[in-house]
Amino acid sequence: MAHRGNSLIRDNHSLGEGRGLVFTAAAVILACSGILCSAQETGAAGKAPPDPRISEAIGQVSADHVRQTIEKLVSFQNRSTLSAQDEESIKAGKGIGAAREWIKSELERDSKECGGCLEVKTDSFEEQPADRIPKSTQIANVYAVLRGTDPQQASRIVLVTGHYDSRNSDNLNTTDAAPGANDDGSGTAVSLECARVLSKMKFPATIIFLTVAGEEQGLNGSKHFAQMAKREGWNIEAVLNNDIVGGDRGPQQDASVVRVFSEGLPAAATEPEIRRIRALGGESDSTSRELARFVAEVGRTYDAGVKPLLIFRLDRYLRGGDHYSFNQQGFAAVRMTEYREDYNHQHQNVRTEGGIEYGDLPKFVDFEYVARVARLNAATLAVLASAPGPPAKVKMLTKELQNDTTLTWEPSPGAAGYEVLWRATSASDWEHVQTFGNAARATLKLSKDNEIFGVGAVDSAGHRSLPVVPEPER
Ligand SMILES: [Zn+2]
Repeated sequence: MAHRGNSLIRDNHSLGEGRGLVFTAAAVILACSGILCSAQETGAAGKAPPDPRISEAIGQVSADHVRQTIEKLVSFQNRSTLSAQDEESIKAGKGIGAAREWIKSELERDSKECGGCLEVKTDSFEEQPADRIPKSTQIANVYAVLRGTDPQQASRIVLVTGHYDSRNSDNLNTTDAAPGANDDGSGTAVSLECARVLSKMKFPATIIFLTVAGEEQGLNGSKHFAQMAKREGWNIEAVLNNDIVGGDRGPQQDASVVRVFSEGLPAAATEPEIRRIRALGGESDSTSRELARFVAEVGRTYDAGVKPLLIFRLDRYLRGGDHYSFNQQGFAAVRMTEYREDYNHQHQNVRTEGGIEYGDLPKFVDFEYVARVARLNAATLAVLASAPGPPAKVKMLTKELQNDTTLTWEPSPGAAGYEVLWRATSASDWEHVQTFGNAARATLKLSKDNEIFGVGAVDSAGHRSLPVVPEPER
């Protein structure tokens, strides 16, 4: 074993045995401090080369287009979920109804430009009066589906979302300015930019570009959507929620990073799963956390211009977001948010008081930063939608007391090979990778007691799936 630590280490030896094994010596460069791998980290387990097609696509994300989107959203004056959505207000370009119709028209235009490649849909429902909903209110999520081209893979879904509703100081106010340029015009712009650039491509798996309402009232839109997805058995592998990714121009902002929040103990874990986590570890291996690590890897592979900073918690103190609605239904979902938020520029009436400017205005948003975050999102979606699905039924044999580790899995359609990732139980990110050929089993000369393992699928072009942490099998 190579040593781990703060220094740069190359690990190029081969370990293990197995049926039809191909020993690919993987170059592993580590620069983890032992707490969290920092955004400055230069490498991780088994870096795959970037796909030039994906690099080109993310290069088409435009800061100017982001600016136009955010300015347009702000022009609707107040996008409270409780604001106007009658025909007249829509015509006048005021209120959440007008915002919804405009988002729909943007996605429809993208679809027209790709020969009808997007299915533009509305998930609309009537929310009954509740805590922050004084009267029965129509809530509509707008989304576009870029259907996968491979019949074996099209049921796999990766999804990007942001919320298009906004608020000012008073969560029930529906008339005064609630610009929501950063919260969450920025996240809405990310979903729309991803739709615009990725709809020009084709992928084996399906991508959904979603914008939800009701976030500020209690995550109502995302909750409805995630419950629908669960009820209808959608196979959503990954949800990227972008909320406050505007890169507020305050002096203490770090525009080189974007925070990626992920839950530890899964919200949807069953009692037996929690018992297993308690006994064997796994507090840091929810599917959402594997997705966060995957985003970090994409950030090292593709030149998005912003580095993911992994935050190992569900969300910030006192705050929540739409990713949680998906977590509750058992889906892997992460939240992206700028490094440092300015609370004078969120949930505030537009005003100047004591020389301080309040309000979520476009002038505080760094459109270049939003574009970089959109590039990171688009690259992650594109890699996952190009890759084979994660291997199914990944097991670790634990029949006997042994110092080796044997893993088995079921083949994944489209996979050309598999890779086993591992790391020390105290390490935050994968440290080692070994590539196997078309095997369904691998034995590594490593003790299962000392490492955490994951198994992923790789296609012939090098697109990697999300890794799956094995379940013990006796
Ligand atoms: Zn928000």
